[in-house]
Amino acid sequence: MKEQIIQQLKQNKTVLIASHTSPDGDAIGSLIALGLTLEKFGKKVVLYNEGPIPAVYRFLPQTDRVLCALEPDAFFDIAIVLDCSTLQRIGAAAETVKLTPVTINIDHHVTNTGFGDFQIIDAKACASAEIVYELIKKLGVAIDAAIATSIYTGIFTDTGSFRFANTNLAAFAICNEMVQLGADPYCVSKNVYGAYSLNRIKLLNQALDTIEISQDGKLSMMVLTQAMMSKTGTQSEDVEGIINYARRIEDVKMAVLIHELKNGHKHKPACAPHPYHVSLRGNGNVDVASIAADFGGGGHHDAAGFNIESTLADIKNKILNLEIGDVNSEFGILNSES
Ligand code: 5GP
Ligand code: MN
Repeated sequence: MKEQIIQQLKQNKTVLIASHTSPDGDAIGSLIALGLTLEKFGKKVVLYNEGPIPAVYRFLPQTDRVLCALEPDAFFDIAIVLDCSTLQRIGAAAETVKLTPVTINIDHHVTNTGFGDFQIIDAKACASAEIVYELIKKLGVAIDAAIATSIYTGIFTDTGSFRFANTNLAAFAICNEMVQLGADPYCVSKNVYGAYSLNRIKLLNQALDTIEISQDGKLSMMVLTQAMMSKTGTQSEDVEGIINYARRIEDVKMAVLIHELKNGHKHKPACAPHPYHVSLRGNGNVDVASIAADFGGGGHHDAAGFNIESTLADIKNKILNLEIGDVNSEFGILNSES
């Protein structure tokens, strides 16, 4: 498959590269790394991400040139979609991609639908950046410090700083090479984890106050509402990583963060349906990707998510009643400390 993709890249000139909305470090890092590489390979490259690009990833090279909208008549020979289990994950540009003669799907989500004309889908890859690295090697393009920093950031963030179950040998091997080629680990971690706004920390405080745990201790749940976001002056990007606090509690098998999304109607009563994003994290025993897929979302074995329009009470109820292997039966009632 890689050979066919290399062939397509050799034969064509204009390339659109896109990754998923509400991007994380892998979505941005892979996008920038592949974009810079294909430019060195002589291609005319447009980078797309509907955004918003979180402030903590703006230190990456050339994030300013990433477009969040395309002209209606934009046309490309090839579209490359990165880190997306479905084409729709890129947002509005999916319409442009559908009209593009060749679509290449590069991803590591186990729930990838296999869309596009050519695919490299490797659920064992620690990050899409790992697959992008391999493609760069095949293309024979020299990795400079900008590309190395982008690849390093993708792997560093998607493995939770080499802590999550997707941390494989390649993560260390590639990051070792990226550091030799100019990636600065301290600079990356300082930008990604050491430059939070005070508001973001205050949002974390609000979220921690909502933690509930099931009677058997296997399920933890947190809630973030739009009221908390406005009170703290925070954006969706400030929510990234908060769920890991619920996941860290001893004996927890699955952590859930229910995040109320914007354009919930202001004057609707709290009991009316609102749009929510639900994040799921497992600690090895629960396949959260398949749970998310049942709700129309997707992700990885240990980290997944879905969107749902409902009430908070209904979402909590649905989660408490999930049938999940040996963990299911006692999810039952939640205990709140507050
Ligand atoms: P998060 O919970 O941080 O939003 O996402 C965790 C993982 O699940 C990420 O890899 C993300 O790409 C994936 N994911 C989150 N929401 C969705 C969704 O609505 N659809 C799909 N297909 N994947 C999702
Ligand atoms: Mn990823």
